[in-house]
Amino acid sequence: MRLNLLTGRWVTIVESRAERPSDFAVRQNVIESSRPCPFCPGNEEATPPALETFDAGGDWTLRVIPNLYPAFEGDESFAVRNLGPVHVQAEASGIHEVFVYSPDHSAALNTLSDEAAVRLMDALSRRLEDHSDTDNVRYTQAIVNHGREAGASLSHPHGQILGLPFVPGEIIEEERAFARFAGGCVLCTTAEAELATGHRIVAANDDVVVVCPYWSGAPYELLIIPREHQSHLPRASDSALAAAGLALRDATAHLNAALGDVAYNVGFHTAPHQHRGPYHWHIHVWPNLVTQAGFERGTGVMINIVAPEAAAETLRAVKVTA
Ligand code: AMP
Ligand code: ZN
Ligand code: ZN
Repeated sequence: MRLNLLTGRWVTIVESRAERPSDFAVRQNVIESSRPCPFCPGNEEATPPALETFDAGGDWTLRVIPNLYPAFEGDESFAVRNLGPVHVQAEASGIHEVFVYSPDHSAALNTLSDEAAVRLMDALSRRLEDHSDTDNVRYTQAIVNHGREAGASLSHPHGQILGLPFVPGEIIEEERAFARFAGGCVLCTTAEAELATGHRIVAANDDVVVVCPYWSGAPYELLIIPREHQSHLPRASDSALAAAGLALRDATAHLNAALGDVAYNVGFHTAPHQHRGPYHWHIHVWPNLVTQAGFERGTGVMINIVAPEAAAETLRAVKVTA
């Protein structure tokens, strides 16, 4: 078992379980649709007006738009209402945006040009800055869902930015982990310790380290750690942001080259807007290769059938052409 220092939860690595028999066919990761794509150039009318547009030579390269089906909406501040002894409510106020990070319908994170990868981080940084100036938004979660198995509903490359009126549990756990760690910063220390052995490194340079975390709860899980110590993503230097964008592109390119077009989720973790304690922003990539079953649901303890050392070795071994 290994302790995830970011969540305080145990994971267990059991490679032999990869050999167990299965009666079920391998899942397909295709999204099929005959509808016109609302995110393609020429169909801008299908979405609400853009909040932000990046362009080059008159054509847009990235658009941020309000989500037409928002999960969080409105500027009400967070107030808990007890409707009875066991029915507790709060308004789902906040912001829900979509960022379309390429005009190319068939692009994905792994195929982005350097400029597009850097632009994506620039756009996120600007949106997070905007959210931090919004009174009722306490924390903003940016994500990318790639592939149906990872929850994507539209195949055009895009992500979502959700400004929440509260700080979610996963982030509270990470805040606690940073506060609890006695040896400086958990992630600065992780980057150094992993560079020292190299076992779990997928890619690294002066600005960023990509690892299969020691405590990976699922096969091929990846963590992108900017080497500049900064709690809030929008306060990161331009070079740290750019390096993280390129690392995200490269990390997904390694995944794609090693395993094919697997579904994955990306989570951009940054300190809650008003947070003043220790934190270090980072990016998680969670490939969707296994399903969380009863034990994981019941206990929160992950059983990982691919050791992160083996995963890193496989990912390092493939050639990616940027
Ligand atoms: P995902 O489900 O991760 O693929 O993200 C797609 C998001 O786009 C969903 O949250 C939808 O609510 C949102 N969405 C779908 N159609 C539109 C549209 N025409 N304009 C804006 N947002 C949309
Ligand atoms: Zn499209
Ligand atoms: Zn995190």
